[in-house]
Amino acid sequence: MLFDYHLHSHFSADSDMTMDELCQAAVNKGLDEIAITDHHDIDYKDDTIEFLIDKKEYLAEIEKMQQKYRGQLKIKKGIEMGLQEHIFEECEQYLADDFDFVIGSFHTAEKADLYNGDFFENYGQWEAYLQYLKAVLNVVKDYDHYSVIGHLDIIRRYGDFEQQPGLMEDEQAAELIREILKTVIAKDKGLEVNTSGYRIDGQNPLPDFEILKLYYQLGGKILTIGSDSHNTETIANKFNYTISKLKEIGFTELTTFSKMKAEFHKI
Ligand SMILES: [Zn+2]
Ligand SMILES: [Zn+2]
Repeated sequence: MLFDYHLHSHFSADSDMTMDELCQAAVNKGLDEIAITDHHDIDYKDDTIEFLIDKKEYLAEIEKMQQKYRGQLKIKKGIEMGLQEHIFEECEQYLADDFDFVIGSFHTAEKADLYNGDFFENYGQWEAYLQYLKAVLNVVKDYDHYSVIGHLDIIRRYGDFEQQPGLMEDEQAAELIREILKTVIAKDKGLEVNTSGYRIDGQNPLPDFEILKLYYQLGGKILTIGSDSHNTETIANKFNYTISKLKEIGFTELTTFSKMKAEFHKI
């Protein structure tokens, strides 16, 4: 079984790929299953771009693809929800029971955008990292409508810093990560392994292998893999390598989802 559980079509403002192109490319790469996970970021803090999806249109298009690729490719109704502490109710309402799989992602913290750098304005590097992790912890403590946390240590991709160290290198950050992972595990939620992370240092997905080791040691079992592709070239990028590293850590299964229910597959 090969599946890519983080893919963006043109329903995301930062992708031009049609769902049809995406599905065809997934078939060409030999995948058995995908989750389409376009961006829905309520109250996104960068006014120059909007990441909101017309749900009806979006789900109708996925259903069309499910028909077209029947017998060739399983296609799941996924979404990448931007989570923030002040929008839980809006997220719940939007999601309802309409999705197979929800990636809970952090593209903002403290009502400031990570990508455009706003969040970093008032902080030094590690200060920013710690504040980000505290924001994540607050969300996972109080919010449950998601399947996996997306690219947990994405903060190290952003900010104008010379080095992008792993978050486990700092004691306080490591402690916060431990708390986040324990909370996620206790609530039967999971983590995604996001292979777009190799673009940072060539060595690690998001989260990095140190965090994935800790997740395993703490008893974490729910783990999806996704390329976070916005074009056809990167679909399933570095999956074989990543899966072999996950096996070294001790993981024996990867997870897919149907109607928010986890299904496990031997790796
Ligand atoms: Zn994301
Ligand atoms: Zn994404």
